[in-house]
Amino acid sequence: MKKRVLSVLLAAMLLVASFASVSAAEAGVSVDKTTAEIGDTVVVTLTIPAINTKLAGVQTGVKFDNTVFEVVKYDCVSMPGVPDPTTMGTWPSLEECQAAGEVTSTYVNFGGENSIDLSKGFALTAELKVLDTAKGGTTEIVVEDFICYEMNGSDSVDHTPQINTKATVTIDVPCAHDWKETAAKVEPTCDEAGKEAVYTCSICGATKGGEEIAALGHKWEVKEKVESTCKDAGYVIEKCSVCGEEKTTALELADHTWGEWVLDEEGTTETRTCEVCGATESREYNPETGDTMMAVLFLAMAATFVVAIAKVNKARKNA
Ligand SMILES: [Zn+2]
Ligand SMILES: [Zn+2]
Ligand SMILES: [Zn+2]
Repeated sequence: MKKRVLSVLLAAMLLVASFASVSAAEAGVSVDKTTAEIGDTVVVTLTIPAINTKLAGVQTGVKFDNTVFEVVKYDCVSMPGVPDPTTMGTWPSLEECQAAGEVTSTYVNFGGENSIDLSKGFALTAELKVLDTAKGGTTEIVVEDFICYEMNGSDSVDHTPQINTKATVTIDVPCAHDWKETAAKVEPTCDEAGKEAVYTCSICGATKGGEEIAALGHKWEVKEKVESTCKDAGYVIEKCSVCGEEKTTALELADHTWGEWVLDEEGTTETRTCEVCGATESREYNPETGDTMMAVLFLAMAATFVVAIAKVNKARKNA
């Protein structure tokens, strides 16, 4: 039973001890958020632990990047015993803080007397709004010019406590991108695709562009044309007006130019002759009915006439 009472007592003492002083982890600069977006407000708090010595001067400054933040409000939270800042403190305007990129506060007992009482600690708060023009990345909020001193005769004695002097906030904003051309545009040719210029952001390394540009295709112009006859295939030579490439295309043979059917002496076969190449074709002639039937072939283009026979035969069958 005795043991238990003792342990409860010890726990209570520890609890009181932890409330009585500002812990080392809290002393110094801290932020209410470690990531922020454009338009967000970051509340910065500088906490000075209790200094159980009467001081003659306290000077603090919290530096921030004024290209990232706009200071919208700041306040020295006076603890009991801290002199009225309106009479003893030096308070720069918000504009001055913004221009300097620093929120500062200075308390000086001008008489050199040790009358400033920080036995309950002290805090400075500032609200920093992320500017529309802020760049993404990590930014530091740093305590500078932090001095606490006591006057001892004509000497000043430093009582500046060790505190955390740095807080970081990662600004999560889309990169504003500073595009620089890193690969020139490649013009397409008649038969090879081109490529748009490639741009790389000098800030974040992102790239854009580089899209393929389709090949233009040749611009063919007829350079030479030889017409086909029924004997010789003609051809066309075309030349690209852009790159000068040439291509030759063969043309199909032309049809024969047939003369009139001529009946032979027996009166049983009709023959006609091509006026251009001299090819002939014949067909049977029935003097009784006047019907004709393809019979003899003397043509160079044998294949054409095989088809012709087949057609005639089919016509006969169907008749
Ligand atoms: Zn970028
Ligand atoms: Zn071409
Ligand atoms: Zn012919």
